[in-house]
Amino acid sequence: MPEVKLVGIGKRYGSVVAVNSVDLTVHDKEYVTILGPSGCGKTTLIRMIAGIIEPSQGKVLIDGRDMTGVPIEDRDIGYVFQNIALFPHLTVENNVSYGPRAKDRPPEEQASVSRRFLDMVKLLDKMQMFPGELCGGEQQKASLARALASGSKLLLLDEPLSALDSRVRVDLRYELRRLAKELGLTTIHVTHDQEEAQSVSDRIVLMRAGAVVETGSPEELYTRPKNIFTANFIGETNLLEGWVEEIRDGMSIIELRNGGKVQVNQTDQPLGDAVVISVRPEFVFPTDEGMKARVTHVTYMGTYWRVTATTEDEEDVGFDVATFDSNLLTIGKELYLAVNPKAAVLYPRPENGVEEAIKLE
Ligand code: ATP
Repeated sequence: MPEVKLVGIGKRYGSVVAVNSVDLTVHDKEYVTILGPSGCGKTTLIRMIAGIIEPSQGKVLIDGRDMTGVPIEDRDIGYVFQNIALFPHLTVENNVSYGPRAKDRPPEEQASVSRRFLDMVKLLDKMQMFPGELCGGEQQKASLARALASGSKLLLLDEPLSALDSRVRVDLRYELRRLAKELGLTTIHVTHDQEEAQSVSDRIVLMRAGAVVETGSPEELYTRPKNIFTANFIGETNLLEGWVEEIRDGMSIIELRNGGKVQVNQTDQPLGDAVVISVRPEFVFPTDEGMKARVTHVTYMGTYWRVTATTEDEEDVGFDVATFDSNLLTIGKELYLAVNPKAAVLYPRPENGVEEAIKLE
């Protein structure tokens, strides 16, 4: 049931604007991540939804009910927040069964719910321990089990996986999404990790400097980002500057600053205008003509190699080659690079330059 609606919500600390008038609706059973660089206002935003931080402006509606003045314990939410600890005097089991106990559920239900969620996060063998006896990652898992066991249909997570090592983090990502979907939860998950956001979300809300830059499915934000900041923040990309030399047959021909020419299947930028092309490394490939470049770095990525080549204009272009393409892996090798026209995206050149447009503030 829970739908969360933020209406012009904002928070100021003196002259610092932590969050600047955000409007957002998170639908029932939707899994939304709030993603953005450090200091962009993610934690402030989720804490306003929880009722831990009082907004300076705007309001939070949960199922249409104005939450102004309603404390966290009366908002019926499950939450995992970075510095909201487990109860230190309760065992792990009693921490996890806290929600059902507070709701006066029968003791057998409290025990079975607690076991179910401790089993899910693989902490059954530590259920009689106290939080102080667990390592950071285990505490985080116990907090997650407690939030899930609360029975609330709205789950708020602030960096819930950050204290875990990378292998467990990846496993738990899938678990988190699976559980949220299985239990029919509305989930709002804050992270600065774009891979985590991509792998768990129905929709990503990308923030920068207190404001929402763009929202969309992980695929939309990766393949057709509307904003150049998004293109750079989500995944890796090459940003190549040039201008529109010609428009024909549903294509724009872009003359690059670095001397090459690139075709892009997009025609909404006016002829002669300065533009920026965003193209992911997997859509740049060596060919017989195109941008002239020289290989400067080669990095082994597991199933492929990431090659960086510098163009005549000293611009670095990264591209990926399969491991068997070893003839491209020689430093100093000269080659020509082309771009898949369907996979490149064109933007008007930002007024204050590309650096400013992609800067993490
Ligand atoms: P991180 O990923 O590093 O936790 P974040 O995106 O969650 O960052 P917030 O913690 O929401 O960012 O902070 C947003 C901005 O508000 C930052 O510039 C921060 O310094 C400022 N800020 C947050 N809390 C306070 C406070 N209590 N007093 C003053 N400024 C604050």
